[in-house]
Amino acid sequence: MRKAAGFAFVGTDPEFTGYSVEVEIADPDQLAAGRHYTPTGMYTYAIPGIIAMVEFDGGAFHRTQPITCEHVQAVLRRVSGTDVTLTALQLATTWTDRACQATAYRKGRVLLAGDAAHIHSPLGGQGLNLGLGDAMNLGWKLAATIRGDAPADLLDSYSRERHPVGAQILDWSRAQVALMRPSRSTRAFEAIIRDLIATPDGATYFAERVWGVSLCHELGGGHPLVGRSAPDFELACGMRLGELLRDGRGLLLDFGPRAPLRALADRWRGRISYVAGEARDRLGLTAVLVRPDGLVAWATDIEPDLKETARAAARWFGEPDAAYQGA
Ligand SMILES: Cc1cc2nc3c(=O)[nH]c(=O)nc-3n(C[C@H](O)[C@H](O)[C@H](O)COP(=O)(O)OP(=O)(O)OC[C@H]3O[C@@H](n4cnc5c(N)ncnc54)[C@H](O)[C@@H]3O)c2cc1C
Repeated sequence: MRKAAGFAFVGTDPEFTGYSVEVEIADPDQLAAGRHYTPTGMYTYAIPGIIAMVEFDGGAFHRTQPITCEHVQAVLRRVSGTDVTLTALQLATTWTDRACQATAYRKGRVLLAGDAAHIHSPLGGQGLNLGLGDAMNLGWKLAATIRGDAPADLLDSYSRERHPVGAQILDWSRAQVALMRPSRSTRAFEAIIRDLIATPDGATYFAERVWGVSLCHELGGGHPLVGRSAPDFELACGMRLGELLRDGRGLLLDFGPRAPLRALADRWRGRISYVAGEARDRLGLTAVLVRPDGLVAWATDIEPDLKETARAAARWFGEPDAAYQGA
């Protein structure tokens, strides 16, 4: 679909072919269990026969030929520097570190999400969540557009918000490749990164990147939480924020209650739910507006300014219902 619709798909060429295989080995003692960097690539071996390996061949093998036991054995011998013998190939797949992204995710009525919009090496296991994030961002916008109550540029905001996130993940996967290159300087660089990860700040940085906690979508807005995934507040009633979002609507969470905020949410009845109550830890907030995809659209630590709240609601949820205009 991407090709048929003429989307530009740009990025970087592969440096290696990766293999994930399950094999039977005649002489398993030749291989040491665990991860090993070698002069031609890297392999990890889990006993009895699960092997992942990369050979820095410029991605030459991937998808060009059938994966045979002989070929896997030849690669494993080159990468491990042993003359290990494979007797059977049970399962095999190849992949590369080619990293490409569509320059925009929308062309008229065609929208891209997931691997159709971006591909990168599976190292670090980011691809699936990246696609799920696209789907969460896009789903409610499509629904609002189809219902006819979406603000004018809501659907275009999908590409604007998700393209930078995809670009970040592609660069994250490229950085991992840079740490795997079979050279002495790369090993030295990797040792420095390991030292940094061993510090509390380094561990926090890497954990937040891998889990996506540090992810912030550029939504514009004064509060530092805007554009971030809403904290999963535990409310006094025992429910969590995640449960309150399951009906696919936005959520105005009021650590109040405040009658004017309820009245304001009522004007977007059906599109924004209003929930009031205390939370176990409300992180200093007094109220927060959450989009159906779980991103914070607006938040405040002080007494809510109703005009500001209404502006944020209109920006993401369109015009208020006429029946409630006077409220
Ligand atoms: C070896 C490997 C390991 C990975 N490991 C991880 C990991 O640990 N963690 C992680 O998060 N990600 C991992 N990934 C990435 C992850 O698998 C992908 O990012 C994810 O599957 C993409 O989902 P998708 O729905 O966008 O695309 P796909 O999973 O490719 O789904 C697209 C579907 O559309 C179908 N389709 C295509 N064309 C048409 C058509 N014309 N009509 C109808 N149907 C069509 C296809 O058959 C396919 O079923 C890995 C990938 C690989 C290759």
